[in-house]
Formats: sequence, structure tokens, C-alpha cells
Amino acid sequence: MNLVLLGPPGAGKGTQAKRLQDLRNLVQLSTGDMLRAAVAAGTELGRQAGELMEQGQLVPDALVIGLIAESMDEGEGGAGFILDGFPRTIGQAEALDTLLQSRGEKVDRVVVIEVDDDALVARITGRFTCAACGEGYNELFKTPKVKGVCDVCGGTKFSRRADDTEEVVRKRLKAYHAQTEPLIGYYKAQDKVSAVDGMADIETVQKEIDQALDGA
Ligand code: AMP
Repeated sequence: MNLVLLGPPGAGKGTQAKRLQDLRNLVQLSTGDMLRAAVAAGTELGRQAGELMEQGQLVPDALVIGLIAESMDEGEGGAGFILDGFPRTIGQAEALDTLLQSRGEKVDRVVVIEVDDDALVARITGRFTCAACGEGYNELFKTPKVKGVCDVCGGTKFSRRADDTEEVVRKRLKAYHAQTEPLIGYYKAQDKVSAVDGMADIETVQKEIDQALDGA
């Protein structure tokens, strides 16, 4: 089963993808994570993408399509892929169809996580991760049990994404509405879309996604 998680930045796609990965033996492919790794490693691709990411703009289709094609070849072990943050344009959606077709597969389900813009800005500017293990937290609804200490690994250093400031978040939301939202219509025409209420808590959203997948 190949699942696309669609939704604005901060909707909880990454959080839900990580849970689904463990529950359903799927492989999470997050273009945002791949691009951040390329920026951190200082590769040529990272240099090309980094500035656009800091400005809240999308990077060119060809770059992310190349990343997805490579990681699909590497991630062949699971029961399918969870696409998190990809596709983000119609061109990327068409490229994904072609890539999957060449493997004898398709997009089976598209889950749209819906959250309104003002809630997203508050959410995104409140989020931070453990610098050691990557566990995600949020000032609004998930703080470490002991202040300043990671629940999972005991780490005491935390980091925030460079593009999680209010100014950049507003630009990322604009890009979402202009370039990514039209994908909902693209997949609705194929009868693949389930919408879940992303304003609910993490467990409830997970249950709703589970139901959507079981009914698929
Ligand atoms: P994310 O972690 O998914 O919020 O992505 C962070 C940033 O990486 C985005 O604001 C874009 O600049 C870039 N990015 C991630 N995925 C894509 C994609 N599929 N297409 C274009 N740009 C992307």
C-alpha cells in the first residue's frame, strides 16, 4: 500500500508518518527530511535547495523527484511507502505516478490532514526537536516530562528548524495553497482521498487515518 499524506506545513504529516511506519511496516519518504540532510551535509543539492527553503518556497520539481526515485530504490523492503511532503505540485504527482507504475504499483490512498492557517502558525512556531534523537516536541501540546530533558534519550539539547519562524511559515502556507492544494482535486478525480480533522489530538488523528486506510 502506497499512501500520500497531504496537508499544510505543521498539520502533523511527519508525526503521523512515523507512527504509520512502525504500525504498518511502511517506509516513510520525507522530501523535507532529505533536503534538510543535504543542507546539513553541505552537498551541491543542499546548496541549491537551502536558500529556497529558508525563504519558504518550494525547491524545483526535478530535485525532489530525483530524491524520491533514489530512495524508492533503497527502501524496497517495506510493505509500501508513506509519502510525506511529496508530491507538492501537479508535476510531482504525475512523476510519482510514473515512478510507481514502473514498479507495477500505484498511489493507493491519499489522506488529507486539515488544519486552519492560524492554528498552524501557532503550532509550527512552538515546535522543537531533541538534537540527539530527533524526538519531536511542541510548547503547545507536548513538552518533555522533565523540563529541558528529552523523554526518549535523556538529551538536553534541542533544536528548531530554520524555516519555523512566523514570517517563513506564512510564505510556506501561501505556497501550500497555491501549488499543493490543487492536488486534492487531482486525487479526488481518482477517488482516492480521505480527509481527517488535524485539529484533534495526535492519537485521534492516528485512529482516523487507520480507519481511512482500513476502508481503502
Ligand atoms: P517540509 O519539511 O515538508 O515542511 O519541507 C520543508 C521545505 O523543504 C519546504 O518548505 C520546501 O522548501 C522544501 N520541500 C520539501 N518537500 C518539497 C517538495 N516535495 N517540493 C518542493 N519543495 C519541497
